[in-house]
Order: sequence, then C-alpha cells, then structure tokens
Amino acid sequence: MSFNKISFEESLATDVIAAGKCVDCGTCVAVCPFGCLEYAVEAPRLIKECKVCGICAQTCPHYKWSWSKAENFVFGRERKPEEEFGIHRRLAVAHAKDERILKSCQDGGATTALLSSALASGAIDGAIVAGNNREKPFCPIPKLATTNDEILECAGTKYFYSPNLLALSEALKQKKGSVAFVGTPCQIRAVRKMQMAGLKRHVAPLKYLIGLMCSECFMYEGLMENHVRGRLGIELGSIRKMNIKGKMLITTDAGVTAIPLAEIKQYARKSCSFCDDFSSELADISVGGLGLDGWTFAIVRTEKGEELFSNAEKAGIVKVRDASEETFALSLLQKLSKKKRQIFSTH
Ligand SMILES: Cc1cc2nc3c(=O)[nH]c(=O)nc-3n(C[C@H](O)[C@H](O)[C@H](O)COP(=O)(O)OP(=O)(O)OC[C@H]3O[C@@H](n4cnc5c(N)ncnc54)[C@H](O)[C@@H]3O)c2cc1C
Repeated sequence: MSFNKISFEESLATDVIAAGKCVDCGTCVAVCPFGCLEYAVEAPRLIKECKVCGICAQTCPHYKWSWSKAENFVFGRERKPEEEFGIHRRLAVAHAKDERILKSCQDGGATTALLSSALASGAIDGAIVAGNNREKPFCPIPKLATTNDEILECAGTKYFYSPNLLALSEALKQKKGSVAFVGTPCQIRAVRKMQMAGLKRHVAPLKYLIGLMCSECFMYEGLMENHVRGRLGIELGSIRKMNIKGKMLITTDAGVTAIPLAEIKQYARKSCSFCDDFSSELADISVGGLGLDGWTFAIVRTEKGEELFSNAEKAGIVKVRDASEETFALSLLQKLSKKKRQIFSTH
C-alpha cells in the first residue's frame, strides 16, 4: 500500500491538533510504524523525528474526512437524505436477559450481551472495551477483555474519553484473530479509515464494530473532581452509576442527584464540538439509550451487524422488540443526528 507522503507536522499537527480538532483517539500512535508518536492527554506528541510515511494522516478521523468515501466503502453507496441517522437494515430495542449484566450495564445491557454471546459461541476471542481505573472511579481505561467476567466488569458508561484503539496493540500482541470493538463515533471512523487505508495487519483482528451513540465526552478533572466532588460534595468512590437522561443523574447509596446539562456543559471536551456523527453511522451496530428505561436502542447497519445481533437473539441472550413504536427515542435520534450534522456545515 502506498501512502501520500506527508509529515506529522505538515498534516495532523497543523490541520488537526493546532485547529483544536484532535479527539486524542490514539489512532496515529497505534499505526505509526516507526514509533515516532507518544500518546499524551490532549494530543499525541512527536518523540522521534517523523519519517514522513503519511500513515498517521491517512488514518486520522479528523484529517481530510470524506463521508462519501467512507459510506461507499462500508455500504457501497451514500446515505440518502431521508436516512437521517445513517444507513441501516434494522432498528430494534433490546435488553440482556442475564441478571448479572442487567445489574452492571448502562441501559439494557444489549451491548455487553452481544459481546458475551459472541465470546461464548467462539465468534470472537476478545473484545476491546473501556475498563475501570481503580484509583479514579468512572475514568475509563482501554482494555482487551478476553473472558466473560472481564466483559461484564467493563459494562456501563464512563462519560470520559477512552482511547480504545490503544488496546489494539494488546490484541495484536496476544495474536487474537477475531475481536469486537466498542467505541465512540470518532473511533469507529478511525477504524474505517484504517480499513480504507489497507492497514491489513492492524485491522485484521477487528471483526465487529459496535458504535456508541455519543453527544460528547467530558473532562474528568473538571466534572468529577471539581464539580461532583468539589461543589456537590459527592465522594467519587460512593457513586454506583452515572447516566444522562435529560439531566446527568448520579446514583449513590444515598439516592440520585440530578445535575442540569447546562451546568456541566463547561466540562465537555472542546474537540467534541467538531463531531458531526451522533449515532456512529459507520458501525456494524450502533447502540444508545435515547431516553429509554432499561432498554438499549440498536441500529443494525451491516451484514456483520446483522450476524452479531441475530446470533444473540437466536441464542436467547437478548430480549428484542421492534423499534417502530418507540416514537420518543426515534425523534430524539433524528434530532440529535441532525444537530450534529449541522456542525459539519458550520466548521
Ligand atoms: C461518552 C459517551 C456519551 C454517550 N452519549 C449518549 C447520548 O448522548 N445518547 C445516547 O442515547 N447514548 C449515549 N451513549 C451510549 C450509552 O451511554 C450506552 O453506552 C448505550 O446505550 C449502550 O448501553 P448498554 O446498556 O447496551 O451498554 P453496556 O452493556 O453497559 O455496555 C457499554 C459498553 O460501552 C463501553 N464503554 C463505556 N464507556 C466507554 C467510553 N467512554 N468509550 C468507549 N467505550 C465505552 C463499555 O466498556 C461497555 O463495553 C454515550 C456513551 C458514551 C461512552
């Protein structure tokens, strides 16, 4: 595969990092064949002279992005205007049947159930997910989970950025053949760019892409340390669950504290304001809560997504309903997708 030879300094450093668009997904660090880049909070850093291979530019989700190219690559066609939240085959709401998943998941636990089902059937031998940081509650760490218990431990949403692509190196090191990847829209986009760039060795293990719906990620220090602990006096270790349903809801043994979204907006990551994809439109399956209580809204988009979803359904691991009657969730999905798409025309 030959690449347009451009240096990190001439491409990502200027057009992405200096422009404030770097989401810190870690893709450039993961793919640099010469180990020139180091992952750092905010943005990657050059630690060795760039060899000007151009691979980082070719795979960055914010450098020279083309929806048309990506949609043609994944679906063989472009999205029609009426496909407001992207190309899809099926819409469903689902929840896990396993009580252990229901206790630790975010919405309906369908995501964890899909991973668990695929692992049990041998369809995957691992899943890249967001693990838990023992010192900082709800601060995610990219993790390759290889057992059902590990997949279960990583259930639940952490509203902070988890550069899950960094865990790809672990999958390659462990010579995993079939891995499911869970990530935010920007990370799904990065994987698609890696596939389009023909980075065969890196993408070979990635069998299924589960994309999270995502309005934005927050900064841990601001939201958790300054606001939740500092201002509201909630001990971070006492938090059982964080969720967003119109407000941010923080559950502890003492009850639920609701924080208006306008109050926490100041802690949103600035680079998320450049994102024009709410529902992970290039994933095999997209998942979100969309205001539902105890159910996951699933958008099955590709043949692989269909395989993953229907296998879990046939195995009786998830309870599934058609989504056509979920009018509130559907209109929220349309509204949030449209709102993010508009960003595209303003930047
Ligand atoms: C930052 C963020 C913002 C979100 N915003 C919205 C929103 O605005 N509207 C909406 O409908 N849904 C949103 N979601 C998705 C929602 O919170 C649930 O993840 C989704 O509904 C799946 O629920 P579940 O019960 O099936 O997932 P679970 O079974 O609980 O599994 C969740 C999976 O996501 C992984 N994960 C958790 N946090 C992260 C992270 N930070 N990065 C990557 N992977 C992670 C977990 O490791 C786990 O594998 C957001 C998720 C994230 C991470």
